[in-house]
Amino acid sequence: MTELSYLHEPGVLHNLATRYQLHEIYTYTGSILIAINPFQKLPHLYDGHMMKKYKGVPLGKLSPHVFAIADAAYRAMINEGKSNSILVSGESGAGKTETTKMLMRYLAYLGGHKGTQRRTVEQQVLESNPVLEAFGNAKTVRNNNSSRFGKFVEIQFDKNGRISGAAIRTYLLERSRVCQVSDPERNYHCFYLLCAAPQEEIKRYKLGDPKSFHYLNQSNCYELVGVSDAHDYLEIRRAMDIVGISEKEQEAIFRVVASVLHLGNIEFAKGNETDSSVLKDDKSRFHLQTTAELLMCDVTLLEDALLRRVMVTPEEVIKRSLDPEAAAVSRDGLAKTIYSRLFDWLVDKINNSIGQDPNSKSLIGVLDIYGFESFKSNSFEQFCINYTNEKLQQHFNQHMFKMEQEEYSKEEINWSYIEFVDNQDALDLIEKKPGGIIALLDEACMFPKSTHETFSQKLYQIFKANKRFIKPKLSRTEFTIAHYAGEVQYQSDQFLDKNKDYVVPEHQDLLSASKCPFVVGLFPPVAEESTKSSSKSSKFSSIGSRFKLQLQSLMETLNSTEPHYIRCVKPNSLLKPAIFENVNIMQQLRCGGVLEAIRISCAGYPTHKTFSEFLNRFGLLAPEVLEEHVDEKVACEKILEKTGLAGYQIGKTKVFLRAGQMAELDAHRAIK
Ligand code: ATP
Ligand code: MG
Repeated sequence: MTELSYLHEPGVLHNLATRYQLHEIYTYTGSILIAINPFQKLPHLYDGHMMKKYKGVPLGKLSPHVFAIADAAYRAMINEGKSNSILVSGESGAGKTETTKMLMRYLAYLGGHKGTQRRTVEQQVLESNPVLEAFGNAKTVRNNNSSRFGKFVEIQFDKNGRISGAAIRTYLLERSRVCQVSDPERNYHCFYLLCAAPQEEIKRYKLGDPKSFHYLNQSNCYELVGVSDAHDYLEIRRAMDIVGISEKEQEAIFRVVASVLHLGNIEFAKGNETDSSVLKDDKSRFHLQTTAELLMCDVTLLEDALLRRVMVTPEEVIKRSLDPEAAAVSRDGLAKTIYSRLFDWLVDKINNSIGQDPNSKSLIGVLDIYGFESFKSNSFEQFCINYTNEKLQQHFNQHMFKMEQEEYSKEEINWSYIEFVDNQDALDLIEKKPGGIIALLDEACMFPKSTHETFSQKLYQIFKANKRFIKPKLSRTEFTIAHYAGEVQYQSDQFLDKNKDYVVPEHQDLLSASKCPFVVGLFPPVAEESTKSSSKSSKFSSIGSRFKLQLQSLMETLNSTEPHYIRCVKPNSLLKPAIFENVNIMQQLRCGGVLEAIRISCAGYPTHKTFSEFLNRFGLLAPEVLEEHVDEKVACEKILEKTGLAGYQIGKTKVFLRAGQMAELDAHRAIK
């Protein structure tokens, strides 16, 4: 694409389509690698021979490839001693996670240790993928193996370029999926893996057919084509061994997974008193009993924690009963908290077990994070995801602009009138403190009387004149943000609930008193001090604000690295090979900033041609100039003068043309 003379949308699309038909799924556009999901195994594309072929070869010498990007990052790190990062983005199912795994495999190949030990750092880094996927991936309508969390893997290298440590950071696991699955999606893979475990484990955890569990049977999808859950269960256990999770810990992990399934089967019915509830039947009692056994906590306390809330008023302590609906909400809340703590535990464990290298000077970070999302209905999750993408887009624009600018100053041309597209205003709308949407949401969450309606009204009032904010006509609770990639309308009704990062004290107390050290580890007793200060609500914690801090820290890391960009593209919604949907792909290129990058370069001088390239191509426009034997630069100047173009620049070694000028010169050439 960098060689294309005319850089515009149809040209870009046509080029990608042609290459895709030839199974050339990778294409460079300037500094971006575009990767179009082949939805089929392409022979030899990632084998050992290929890795060897790309090792040490400068970018652009061979066909575009993920390996070439990883190699460039590795070489830059070795040669300049600077950290590098590779940012992989794209919509769900576009191939981010597969790409990330290829990058990691190649980096492990470059920086790996000799020999075939099973527990080398690089082995552990690679095996962390299946473990995290088992607990954080699920089948969705968009992707059979969709990552429901964002991930940044930092691979640390020693001074000899060998992998010496790694750190994995994860972002925003989708919690709602644990209790709520819509057809034809699935819950997290680990639940089905466990239900397909060897008989002994099934018996121990009192499991059975996935169809018998409420958290799984809300959808009719249980099996995945081409996947054996029984086989994968054993694979995951093996991967857990490698990443350093002990046999005992593995037993506890799956015990907790099983407890979540049983918990979900506890149902409630109306009790005798008003607004109270009881267990619905014996079946529910059995699941309550089993949940308590698996979590090794007191069964009466568990029942109490599900059915009642303790209210502390200045005068007295009251036990308030929950109605069946509230009890079910409480149960689901507990399930979500247990599961997300388990996921965080796994990430921590893997990090501790791989180990960090405190002496590492340079690292390569690989980011696999959800792309821009705009659905029919968009909630808090989409809001956070799109916020992430605004951040990454700004990072990308700044970098692109910086690179163009560096080239211009190196060539000493006059470039003052290039405008830098910035989305700072969109970021301000979201994250500014005070006054941004996240801050207003926190305020609403702290104020007991707020509802999503009062929250929305507040937004309408404050952002009335904001160009990035739109109040949809006829709506009292929705709002639209004009993101860099397009407008997205958000439904605010769940924003407050989803933002609250709150564990019911009854649940906390119950589990921190468990007889199982592993469970206690997930719910460490809250220290006296912190309960005191949090009761004063001085330390309000919200998902949105915490996410904002996480993103800030990610951006700091990224800013200290040399970035490389990979944009994954999903060629069709059918997840089938060889189908190239033009409009759909164009939209993704827009959202992925590919076209924005093209726009940035068009705002400046999209065509850079060395003097000799220029003379080769356009010398025939003024043969008399060539005959004069002047130096190349002067010859270029003379030719350009003769054509009557304006606004171009001549640098030290290159001619810089404005958008469209190349086409004009070609037209002159055609007449000749
Ligand atoms: P999500 O955001 O939902 O996690 P994703 O971008 O991570 O999506 P992947 O899980 O990487 O998407 O890819 C989806 C599927 O596409 C894979 O399971 C695989 O079947 C196929 N796929 C992706 N990349 C490749 C590739 N390079 N070669 C062959 N198949 C691929
Ligand atoms: Mg993924």
